[in-house]
Amino acid sequence: MVSIREFSRFGKQQYQTYKIAYLPSMAVLSMCQSGSCSMKSLVEKGEQIEEGQIVASECENPDNKYPACIHSPIPGIIKDVLDISMPNGKNAKSLLIEMSGNFTFSGQKKDVYDWKNAVSVSRKIKQISEMGIINTFEKNESLANQLDEIVEESKSHSTKPLVVRLFDKESDTSIESFIANQFKAQVIEGAAIIAEIINAPFVLFFSQKGEFSIPEKAEYQDLFVKAKPQFIEKKIKNYPCGNYKQILKMANQFLKEKHAIEYESVLGVSAETCLDVYNGIVHSYPAIDRFIQVQGDAIAQNQILKVRIGTTLRNIFNECGGFHEQPSQIIINGLVNGTAVSDLDTPVTRYVHTIFVTTSRYFPRQIQTQCIRCGKCNLICEEKLRPDKIYERYSAGDPLGSTYEKTIKYCTECQLCNTVCPARIPLYQTIKLLKDRQNEKNF
Ligand code: SF4
Ligand code: SF4
Repeated sequence: MVSIREFSRFGKQQYQTYKIAYLPSMAVLSMCQSGSCSMKSLVEKGEQIEEGQIVASECENPDNKYPACIHSPIPGIIKDVLDISMPNGKNAKSLLIEMSGNFTFSGQKKDVYDWKNAVSVSRKIKQISEMGIINTFEKNESLANQLDEIVEESKSHSTKPLVVRLFDKESDTSIESFIANQFKAQVIEGAAIIAEIINAPFVLFFSQKGEFSIPEKAEYQDLFVKAKPQFIEKKIKNYPCGNYKQILKMANQFLKEKHAIEYESVLGVSAETCLDVYNGIVHSYPAIDRFIQVQGDAIAQNQILKVRIGTTLRNIFNECGGFHEQPSQIIINGLVNGTAVSDLDTPVTRYVHTIFVTTSRYFPRQIQTQCIRCGKCNLICEEKLRPDKIYERYSAGDPLGSTYEKTIKYCTECQLCNTVCPARIPLYQTIKLLKDRQNEKNF
């Protein structure tokens, strides 16, 4: 375990408010909003579409029963369909939408729907799919698919607890805690909807000590039918924090101590996912907005922006007053776990939470060199993998050998090996590639 401070570049900044960004005059709407599942477009070049219109509802992978539908973030005309570089470094087919026409949602009063009255679980799951909600807790997958699997499983096995993470996984980010505090009532109600769908026996909210003000019972008790929610503060000192494995451990520690029970698995969700569920179910408002923390020593104004998906980085930086120093790196979704991008036309997708723009003082450009056998990658890997050996064998084209083969599935994708490697070797990327190949083989 490594002290969280060792990975902190800017420190945690607490934001009290956010700014609503201008709608983009040209939106770049990726057909891959979950980061892995590519969707089939329902519309074509030259078509006029409405704000919030579903433009993709079927996944390229037919096994994806409840994909997260994609909606147009603005009304407009599809000017082109192109392959464009995404925030995760991959290319994806994208619609270029030029704004024109009337707005369906912007400036309109939202309908309110009483979800507690009889609407079937399957209808709620379908609506979560139609509203395009992904679970940003870890893998950015369709939440409706996850819920459907749990509901199906619970017909033969017992169901699982719901755990809501109200803190950020990295030491420099504060977007999750910001959403949890700013939209506390909505996040709790979103969690109550999820808990009702999976019939969760327990609902645990974990927050970082001092970051989240625990609500009064009266604020939430009528929302939860089965399990009464429990708000637990943790003093988190070490990184990595808040990945699935750690959340499961934290949940079981608590449940064992208070209720003498442990679970094999839990459903982990982020505060942002709960907010999306609230908006999607209570207001039928699709996931077309994101709250994004924009920070760094190269950007003129650090702030939290509410932006439409499809807004490009170029527009976002203009909203923040541009650069006041030459940027060296643009890193999406965290300084440790994130991806460096260089194209300012990269659009915001549903899985974008933070954008760090740094000068060379913080992140000097580094080139890959040979392994110097310092052993840091082995020391830092909590799962006891040997990233250096795995990379060495892979890059030489040698067989991995059964010992290393077996360990790969335990990689939690924390990326700490990359972070400490002085030779800048793509250790995590290599292990991830091998892990994906193993998964495909086993499928
Ligand atoms: S990314 Fe995987 S291999 Fe690298 S330190 Fe984390 S768990 Fe270990
Ligand atoms: S951290 Fe990098 S340089 Fe050090 S042993 Fe691992 S791969 Fe080699």
